Amino acid sequence: MTPGEIVAIVIAGVIVLFFTALIIRTALNKPKHAPVELAPPVQIDKDKAVQHLREAVRIPTVTMVEDYVDNVQPFIDYRNWLEKAYPLLNEKAERTIIADYSIIYHLKGKNPALKGGCYLSHIDVVPAPVDGWEHPPFSGELTDDGYIYGRGTQDMKGHMIALLEAVEYHLSQGKVFDRDLYLCFGHDEEPGTSIVGASSIVKHLKDKGVEIEFVIDEGGTVIDGKMLGIPHTVALIGAAEKGNGDLEIVVRKSGGHASNPNPPTADGVLANAICKIEKNPMKTRWTALTKETFKELSPYCGGSALGRIFKFALTNRDVMSPLVKFIFTLAAPMTNALVRTTFAPTMLWGSDARNVIPKEAKVNINYRMITGEKAEDVKAYLEKLLKKDVKKGRVEVKLLNYSNPSAEADVHCTAYENIRRSILETFDDIVVAPYMFIAASDARFYNPLTDNVFRFGPFINSLDDQARIHGINERLHVDQLEKATAFFIRCLDNTLAE
Ligand SMILES: [Zn+2]
Repeated sequence: MTPGEIVAIVIAGVIVLFFTALIIRTALNKPKHAPVELAPPVQIDKDKAVQHLREAVRIPTVTMVEDYVDNVQPFIDYRNWLEKAYPLLNEKAERTIIADYSIIYHLKGKNPALKGGCYLSHIDVVPAPVDGWEHPPFSGELTDDGYIYGRGTQDMKGHMIALLEAVEYHLSQGKVFDRDLYLCFGHDEEPGTSIVGASSIVKHLKDKGVEIEFVIDEGGTVIDGKMLGIPHTVALIGAAEKGNGDLEIVVRKSGGHASNPNPPTADGVLANAICKIEKNPMKTRWTALTKETFKELSPYCGGSALGRIFKFALTNRDVMSPLVKFIFTLAAPMTNALVRTTFAPTMLWGSDARNVIPKEAKVNINYRMITGEKAEDVKAYLEKLLKKDVKKGRVEVKLLNYSNPSAEADVHCTAYENIRRSILETFDDIVVAPYMFIAASDARFYNPLTDNVFRFGPFINSLDDQARIHGINERLHVDQLEKATAFFIRCLDNTLAE
């Protein structure tokens, strides 16, 4: 044997050993949690919950911006309606109106030494022009196949009503929780920026010296595990949320008449800049939370070829990181969004005459920042990417409104464990993992009160139904409302116990 052959055999042996070790490690990757039994069913007054959601939808609490800036009355009507619909809550809890239209209900617990729990919802909904709706958006129509139609049924009056039904249920049973319960209902979540309700609620609680153990808001998601090769439903609890913002790429050049162009024009430079940004996304990164997501999910992958590949790759994510990131960026926009800051060009401006070359052309880029990155980092990245044109003074990167990513909650805290348990006690054949919520919610304002800020909406909606949020024919099935109420009954019980 030549020395070359010996080296080749040794290298081959090392590679075989290495992959054998990875395969053994994958085979040993089993779920680490003790199984949780489904809770015995409780008698929920489903008809009443359905009636309440229909009534809630009929009060058009369209968020008060732009054409709806004076849409005050529905918010007052809604608040008055809550008084009638939930008599026990209104009798036993203290209600405080914040920033004119937001509401806090404070229900005292048995043990004042314990920190309280905050359950959030927002009262406002996005506008719903009636065109294209099978049933008018503020009619709360109930169809023969069990759907309640209307704006807000999913985002998020369905969530709020399920929560309130659960609170009322417990009160009807004479329950007094160990911890104080704060129901915090903001009135202006939907515009996305300059949110007064949530920040004023937090300031109010902080000023009063209220101590909070955990926060639960909408968000998170329930998905079909098949997309990750998991033969179960997967419930994802949002333990952080991405930051979001807008920026403009502005190109300035001498314009002129279209009869004697001198390329590159401002439009040309802008087009190149957009292509460059799309082709050169920011680096992928594992955050502590995304690592947790896949540590939790990987033992459940399997059952199909795709599942086994995912299980192998995710179990060995530490040594196969570049490959896993590569798979993620290609697999789906959602998995790509979990591992990096994303850019989406949205609005474009150029010349306003057909025969005039503009002096200025610009694009709006909506960006979503992964935890650990800030708006200033995004600006610096884009300036570096476009540095030639920036140096020449013809391109400017202008930060507009933004909100940086939230902190990542510790998913080993008791509150997280209680939410996880409540999901498993309510839904059959489901796997739970934490993740980085890729949209925005009021929850991000609550970090001054506690690190334990979580997002979870207990609804298993089809992709078709999910796509109706903020769109036409938003609807919720009555069985979903019932299940969500059952979830909140468990969750209140678990999280507010000592
Ligand atoms: Zn919402």
